[in-house]
Amino acid sequence: MKSRDEALRAIEGKSFDVCVIGGGATGSGCALDAQLRGLKTVQLEAGDFASGASSASTKMVHGGVRYLQEAIRNCDFKEFLVLKEALRERVHMLRNAPFLTNVRSFLVPCFNSMDVAYFSVGLKLYEWIAGRANLAPSAFISREETLRRMPELASKDLRGAVVYADGQFDDARYNITLVNTFAEAGGEPLNYASVVGFEKDANGRLAGAIVEDKIARRSFNVYARCFVNATGAYADKIRTLAQPASRPRIRWSKGVHIVLPLEVLSGREALLIPKTEDGRVLFAIPWRESLLVGTTDEEIHSLDDVHLQASEVDYLLRHLNRYLAKPVTADQILGGFAGVRPLLTSGRAKNTRKLARNHEVELDSQSGLISIMGGKWTTYRAMAQDAINAVQKYLGIPASKSPTLNHALIGSDGYSADYWQTLQKLYALPETTAKQLAGRYGTCAPDVMDLVKEDHLPAGLLSPDLQLLRAETLFAICNEMAISLEDVLLRRLGIGARNWRASLSAVASVADVFAREFSWPPAKKQEALTQYVLNIRDSMQKAGLGDRGSERPKRG
Ligand SMILES: Cc1cc2nc3c(=O)[nH]c(=O)nc-3n(C[C@H](O)[C@H](O)[C@H](O)COP(=O)(O)OP(=O)(O)OC[C@H]3O[C@@H](n4cnc5c(N)ncnc54)[C@H](O)[C@@H]3O)c2cc1C
Repeated sequence: MKSRDEALRAIEGKSFDVCVIGGGATGSGCALDAQLRGLKTVQLEAGDFASGASSASTKMVHGGVRYLQEAIRNCDFKEFLVLKEALRERVHMLRNAPFLTNVRSFLVPCFNSMDVAYFSVGLKLYEWIAGRANLAPSAFISREETLRRMPELASKDLRGAVVYADGQFDDARYNITLVNTFAEAGGEPLNYASVVGFEKDANGRLAGAIVEDKIARRSFNVYARCFVNATGAYADKIRTLAQPASRPRIRWSKGVHIVLPLEVLSGREALLIPKTEDGRVLFAIPWRESLLVGTTDEEIHSLDDVHLQASEVDYLLRHLNRYLAKPVTADQILGGFAGVRPLLTSGRAKNTRKLARNHEVELDSQSGLISIMGGKWTTYRAMAQDAINAVQKYLGIPASKSPTLNHALIGSDGYSADYWQTLQKLYALPETTAKQLAGRYGTCAPDVMDLVKEDHLPAGLLSPDLQLLRAETLFAICNEMAISLEDVLLRRLGIGARNWRASLSAVASVADVFAREFSWPPAKKQEALTQYVLNIRDSMQKAGLGDRGSERPKRG
């Protein structure tokens, strides 16, 4: 990817075929699809790539067992179709970036024969809907086998478990990798570039976007023949900018996660908690040497201050503890995060839990704005395909087949499950470091290692207890358009939300690399450090985890 300054020069005042607004999963999928179909494409993101819902998911590449329940309970055919599409897309998502994805085995504990029958039949149905896209057959396992595989489970009344398979992925890195793949295909992505208005031609059609550069704090224009609104939770805002009379289509559903030490469930299998007080399912899933627990589904009416709250921590722990022999306490929490699902409104549904995760492409006939709304991460590629089909129709050019179905994302070429061993041999790395590098960059990992040599960067780790290399910060700045400490720690490396305290131990090293690369004066570096620490402490306080005074930044 170009540096941000180079990208700005290539974009400011220039004309494109397509301008995609939004740098989450949907926008990045749309940008890649359009560019690969030969349309000259620019992608504008108001914050950092993946800074919205696309880095706050449960990280499952799935059809959704819960949506199967809803489809059956409500005889909802739309829900069934979404499920089928997601199960089909699951395979493509796993295959197109194997280094960022894996198949995970899930255990659904059963406490009576009704549970056994219900989950056995339900998960066979899940398999049947997936058809050839199924990952592994589901099966009932005995109480003894269940406790052998998940010894931390509460054993009272346990009859056994139904085991099934689903996909898992690194959402933020998948998003960044999509943007990188788009750039590699000749596209022009730009972060911290917010669309704040449009210019229209004499027929009232969108002709240009007014863009606010949030880094330089100034505005410029970008011109395009077609504009795609892929702004997730903000879709109605862009629709109103293009067409003030637009009727709102999006409802916001907040979901939160907490991160616990992996020892809470020491095996490699995930737990599905089948019933919560509000009729949902919860997951506890091994995730990068820790355990991810979530999620909630609460309608919200403002996007300000979306944080993990203490009451939500209580809710997640209360439900998890019902299934554990030894209860988990809040002081074991390592990290957490909150996100907002952009759900399409439906006339019938009273609450957001009942809304189907389907998507819709809307063409505003007056302005020509194409909005792609709703959906889920797992269906991002299908959503992009539908949106770019609509773009071609709008532009009056012949329809072409989407090339993304089997398009390997950057870092996937030549990748295999034992690729980490190649890295280990090439660079004499410890096994964990080699595995983690392979899992973040795939076959692009040597590019990270080359920076260690080329830039005379002190080799080694960001902090003694983290398997993250200093060179990864430099790589994020030079190759992935990282502009702030948050861009690196929260999204490029993912440690910021996964382990608050560990990220605080690494932030000074990250700031050193930024100061060197961007020639930051000491005051600017200190300001960035302080802001990062304050943000993390704020997240911890809102989650009810108190003020731990030791996290003040060292003067650097
Ligand atoms: C708690 C939770 C758990 C989930 N779990 C899963 C899961 O396990 N599996 C799954 O498949 N799905 C899951 N999802 C759903 C999935 O995360 C979302 O559907 C998906 O990430 C939405 O992507 P998006 O690109 O549409 O939105 P976003 O990722 O929010 O991206 C929209 C982007 O548009 C940008 N933007 C807004 N306004 C402007 C502007 N004016 N100019 C430029 N850019 C702008 C924003 O900054 C943002 O980055 C989950 C969602 C949540 C919240």
